[in-house]
Amino acid sequence: MSQFNDQHLAVNGQASGMARGSVAILGSTGSIGQSTLAVLAAHPDRYHVYALSANTRADLLLEQCLTWRPNFAVINDSTQASWLAAALKEGGSSTELLVGDEGLDAIASDSNVDIVMAAIVGSAGLQSTLAAVCAGKKVLLANKESLVMAGPLFMAAVKASQATLLPIDSEHNAIFQCLPQSKFSESPEQINYDEIKKILLTGSGGPFRTLPLDQFSQITPEQACRHPNWSMGRKISVDSASMMNKGLELIEACYLFDCNPSVIEVLVHPQSIIHSMVEYVDGSVIAQMGQPDMRTPIAHALAWPQRIDSGVQSLDWRQMNALSFEAPDLERFPSIRIAREVANDTTSASIIFNAANEIAVQAFLDIKLSFLNITCVVEESLLKIPSSEPSSLIDIKEVDAEARRYAASLIDSL
Ligand code: NAD
Ligand code: MG
Repeated sequence: MSQFNDQHLAVNGQASGMARGSVAILGSTGSIGQSTLAVLAAHPDRYHVYALSANTRADLLLEQCLTWRPNFAVINDSTQASWLAAALKEGGSSTELLVGDEGLDAIASDSNVDIVMAAIVGSAGLQSTLAAVCAGKKVLLANKESLVMAGPLFMAAVKASQATLLPIDSEHNAIFQCLPQSKFSESPEQINYDEIKKILLTGSGGPFRTLPLDQFSQITPEQACRHPNWSMGRKISVDSASMMNKGLELIEACYLFDCNPSVIEVLVHPQSIIHSMVEYVDGSVIAQMGQPDMRTPIAHALAWPQRIDSGVQSLDWRQMNALSFEAPDLERFPSIRIAREVANDTTSASIIFNAANEIAVQAFLDIKLSFLNITCVVEESLLKIPSSEPSSLIDIKEVDAEARRYAASLIDSL
């Protein structure tokens, strides 16, 4: 567990008289990116926004640049670069505009940056997140797909560079908080799993938790994106609806906490008040609770090992109805079963799992694939694409591309 080392950054010292932590946000226009800016807005004495980035939303990136005055901004869509450069100039901004993957890699590894929020959605976030890790940054990991795709390589890079990796996914952030904190500082090499009975990875069950299976084929993107508890980007919203998100999170947790999948139990908790738990061998269960609001894990990770105000309201215990729990329904949500098989597989399976899911989710959002067929495309891709043992980023990208091609042709043939 060397990733959670006891590295004390200037940013974690007392705010007065200390240098401010310099933050780069990969994906600042997204849901996590905007929540990160909301937390940073409350702590101008502690943090400085050094770089922001967007895929296509140049108008929002412009607005963010005019508000935050970062040193750099990166736009992925090169067709919008000249418009954005002109608009920045016209707005009197001195922000330097960079373009594409090279720009993202540059801000992720810039020597002036202390903290990188990795909040790009999907495999598009892998390269820049890895660049931040390799540069030894304090990396706040929202982009779970990068860990699912490249777990062994990613964690080896964390170890080699002594980057500080902090989970933003609310469940993983909760598990991090429930695990013995001494493990992250005194003996960072390992968590003693002899002391831990299980990790309880909770999930709300999504918008279709109680919907009969025979109605799944009529589910629309709008319904799938209407999550009962969380407000999120469209891809993760669909993943939550199919519970593929819980599957991705199961794999993410195995890498983050260096554990066997059998240690992790998925538990449905519809109210999303408990964000995950750790059960110890003595019978103690430690849970992390709070409002379902991503500003809490973001603030936790930004300030770790200290604590700062996130702007999130307290839980109102007197207004709270019963907290309930149930086992996931593996017949209606086979994604969890598939993910468990993938988590037990040390070959290219997790790359195929992630890539096929990304293609299938996009096809569903584009009304080219039914909701039920998302899981079918993932399972069929896992069955048909020969497994390999990728050992480099190039190998990983090749498997990713092959799985995307296969999944896309499968969708066309349906
Ligand atoms: P989002 O769709 O709202 O935002 C995605 C961001 O990534 C945007 O800023 C977009 O411009 C950028 N982006 C997309 N494609 C890109 C590309 N090809 N190149 C460069 N930038 C690109 O997504 P989100 O909900 O903020 O989720 C971001 C990540 O955080 C995902 O991996 C998701 O699983 C994870 N996450 C999100 C939440 C949540 O509450 N939203 C919770 C836990 C984990
Ligand atoms: Mg989550």
